[in-house]
Amino acid sequence: MAHRKPHLPTKTCEGCGRPFSWRRKWALVWSEVKWCSDRCRRSKARAPGTTAGGRHSPSAPAAVVRG
Ligand SMILES: [Zn+2]
Repeated sequence: MAHRKPHLPTKTCEGCGRPFSWRRKWALVWSEVKWCSDRCRRSKARAPGTTAGGRHSPSAPAAVVRG
């Protein structure tokens, strides 16, 4: 058995497109982490349907059940 260092999971930042590795502060929210830093998180200017500051009410209708 090879002796290895513990391998930390990695993800690709949606902000800068660079891979980043697991951090302890993300232990509880790792599955939701998408950016390597707050800076990248805030730079997501091209997120569709998401507007910071204003709360839009999307005209996406909920599932209509007929009957
Ligand atoms: Zn980033």
